[in-house]
Amino acid sequence: MRIDIITCLPKLLESPFSDSILKRAQDKKLVEVVVHDLRQYSTNKHRTTDDYAFGGGAGMVMMIEPIDRCIASLKEQRIYDDIIYMSPDGELLSQPLANQLSLKKNLILLCGHYKGVDERVREHLITREISIGNYVLSGGELAAAVVSDAIIRLIPGVLSDETSALTDSFQDGLIAPPVYTRPAEYKGWKVPDVLLSGHEAKIQEWRHTQSIERTKARRPELDKN
Ligand code: SAH
Repeated sequence: MRIDIITCLPKLLESPFSDSILKRAQDKKLVEVVVHDLRQYSTNKHRTTDDYAFGGGAGMVMMIEPIDRCIASLKEQRIYDDIIYMSPDGELLSQPLANQLSLKKNLILLCGHYKGVDERVREHLITREISIGNYVLSGGELAAAVVSDAIIRLIPGVLSDETSALTDSFQDGLIAPPVYTRPAEYKGWKVPDVLLSGHEAKIQEWRHTQSIERTKARRPELDKN
């Protein structure tokens, strides 16, 4: 899989991809993440990518031309399954959506800044819009990193234990059960006995019951039991 991220602030995207699971996924060639600096596609001498809003009002607007040139140059090189604009009013990111996107081959994530992008970008250049929640960030970079992380960890081979993405919250419509590690007792706070029993069937049953109870308590809207 390949993810191309278009931004006017490429530095903001350096650290999320340079450590831990996302770095290893790239080292193992399971995913290629390429960040594109929009300024390089600007045709004016100051390499600006934003301008004042028509009609006035506070806040700059990202211009269509550099975005169009960048997307066009990428599309010349490969076919994209989706060209996604990160937007607070887009489709809300969810586990089913991350699962769906993890099956794609080539994706573009476009990050907005300031007041957002010229509306014609949304009308003509992109295929989809994703929001990471009903709140406003100052730019799309962190949102693009969140979407990328949610997708990349689902690609087979990225997580060392193949089953571990499947046992995460939301994958089966349930919240994950609580987990513990050593010591078995800390300041008098004990790990549930069943987890120390070595009885595999009872452990599975306990985990399943915990998942159901947690789902009912924390995400009743997911509960189908
Ligand atoms: N004026 C816009 C917000 C612009 S925020 C509005 O009211 O809708 C600047 C940029 O940050 C956006 O263009 C978008 O790319 C990104 N962004 C902000 N909040 C986001 C969210 N919840 N999810 C995804 N991207 C977001």
